Amino acid sequence: NRSLLMIPGPIEFDPAVLAAMGAPTTGHLAPSFIEAFGQALERTRTLFQCKDGQPFVLAGTGTLGMDTACANLVEPGDTALVVNTGYFGDRIGSILERYGAQVTHVRPAAGAHPSLEEVEKALKAGTYRVMTITHVDTSTGVLADIKNLAALGRRYGALVIVDGVCSVAGENLNMDAWGVDVAFTASQKAVGVPPGLALLVASPKALAAFKARKTPVGSYYADWTNWLPVMQAYEARKSAYFGTPAVNLVFALNVSLGQILQEGLEARFSRHIRISRAIKAGISALGMGQVPLTDDIAAHTMTAPRYPAGISGADLLPAVTKAGVTLAGGLHPDIKNEYFRIGHMGAVTQGDVLATLGAIESGLAACGYSFAAGTALSAAMKVFAEN
Ligand code: PMP
Repeated sequence: NRSLLMIPGPIEFDPAVLAAMGAPTTGHLAPSFIEAFGQALERTRTLFQCKDGQPFVLAGTGTLGMDTACANLVEPGDTALVVNTGYFGDRIGSILERYGAQVTHVRPAAGAHPSLEEVEKALKAGTYRVMTITHVDTSTGVLADIKNLAALGRRYGALVIVDGVCSVAGENLNMDAWGVDVAFTASQKAVGVPPGLALLVASPKALAAFKARKTPVGSYYADWTNWLPVMQAYEARKSAYFGTPAVNLVFALNVSLGQILQEGLEARFSRHIRISRAIKAGISALGMGQVPLTDDIAAHTMTAPRYPAGISGADLLPAVTKAGVTLAGGLHPDIKNEYFRIGHMGAVTQGDVLATLGAIESGLAACGYSFAAGTALSAAMKVFAEN
């Protein structure tokens, strides 16, 4: 029952990455591991485009990235502004509250992106220690305008935290150019490594803010005090211990980051844009709408199509799976049953796009939807032919 995995993480992984996962596990003090971890840290910094940033690669999921950013930058009584474009905005709000922050949300309807005026109004109304933005909220497929939002946050004195779990290595996230203080992602998405690693980069300003804390970090595992010497040691090609690194995942990460930088960030982002355009053209040609209200706020790492009238996910998604492609259901609580999600990131190819649209056509046909066979495929091929 081989099935192409086209959900917004985990994704299809490159065979060389999977081979690293399956290689005999070394000790975490082995010279080959020290070299791989050191190189993976350097490459993480390059990927996040933060020249003087401090990378952290930790065993855990994307939620650990969220937890680490919040735990280390927030002290009880601090204020936080969450630019909330979906489910993961709610989650980071809960994490901030857990560490004692007073949280304000700018929360437009599902599928919308808040206007810069709305965000500025909120920033003016209070003083915020941190502002968080979800680059691509995986529950809506909305792509946030990090460049302009981060500039606003900075102007009002907030440390800017970006959840890049569904964006880093697929969408351009330039921490240096855009003044982002902390960004993080998880291994299983566009980074292209099985689930289990959180990658985070802290800018020098974020590290200085952390060092100036008056209270201890509320999480023992996430505390940068514990991890900073470890990350610095491995990058200097020395070993250090706090918690046992996820050895095989780190080897696999280094392979994947090598491939990503070999492709080149610009080329990689362009490829994601092209793939996204083709998928979205296919979906539109079939007469389906999408959750993001306009094209300019739609992510390039995923697509969130709305079910056609009269067709439910309970019928469509299993029919698509039967045709060989696995897709994901809705996640945003307000519209959960109205849409589904296609992930298209990492090593995704033109062939994967055609397989996915073909399987969606098969599924729709099985559900009795009326359309001319090949409609989505030819719309996608047209995009590929144009660029
Ligand atoms: N943020 C975003 C934008 C995500 O898409 C996800 C995972 N879907 C997370 C955070 C949490 O990551 P994880 O599931 O790996 O904990």
